[in-house]
Amino acid sequence: MTNLKLVGLEKKERTVISVGNVRFGEGFVIIAGPCSVESEEQMVETALAVKKAGADMLRGGAFKPRTSPYAFQGLGLEGLKILAKAREATGLPFATEVLDTRDVSWVAEFADMIQIGARNMQNFSLLKEVGKLQKPVLLKRGMYSTLEEWMNCAEYIMNEGNPNVVLCERGIRSFETYTRNTLDISAVPAAKELSHLPVITDPTHGTGKVSLIEPMSLASAAAGSDGIIIEVHRNPAEALSDKDQALTPAQFSVLVRKVRALAKFMEGMK
Ligand code: PEP
Ligand code: MN
Repeated sequence: MTNLKLVGLEKKERTVISVGNVRFGEGFVIIAGPCSVESEEQMVETALAVKKAGADMLRGGAFKPRTSPYAFQGLGLEGLKILAKAREATGLPFATEVLDTRDVSWVAEFADMIQIGARNMQNFSLLKEVGKLQKPVLLKRGMYSTLEEWMNCAEYIMNEGNPNVVLCERGIRSFETYTRNTLDISAVPAAKELSHLPVITDPTHGTGKVSLIEPMSLASAAAGSDGIIIEVHRNPAEALSDKDQALTPAQFSVLVRKVRALAKFMEGMK
């Protein structure tokens, strides 16, 4: 492993990162919301539903990294304003993705946490730009990236002066095609062996399949994850992106109940 001066375990105690009242690295954090912000109604209704189900924090994409240039690209500024309304309606902070260095500083004025997505994990200019702020960053693992590469990307952010990095395992590409990605559960304890930073998982993008999200959320909690990020849509069939992997609020509510029970059990094992 290359020199991880800031990310590595030379710092002895585990880091806790605050996003509003949410504390990553202390208890089990559940982030939920739609893949994309589509309208005020859709976002606020979903936000209220996930809050009722027990989510700690919201998610929603205003800038979407899509495989096709013709697919829905997100609402941009309008999406951020809607996320701010959802935050006001629920009292929950939100995470949202930024794709472009030119957008970092103004998006940070809206967002409580900035997501660097899998496709941009090694966009070093973007990493340096978010590193200049103190805003918490959710750094997803690239779909083709080793743990060493992922850790070094966190190092890039911290090296610019921003210590507030949360790591997110979101599945990697393997030969398997049944699932959208292969959620690398072993990456959770492995990343914690390499780093003092909090680590969460994304069972939604990690599997791409509604039926697998709850079991992989439980597996994440059992592996020592500090939380999960889950896509929920008020009406998945109508979602403008990632509709095959969105949970209904009712499915999400069952997931939260089970995961909280397991996380509590895990806490007792410490
Ligand atoms: C997302 O969170 O909607 C997303 C695009 O995630 P990833 O970067 O993990 O694909
Ligand atoms: Mn998505």
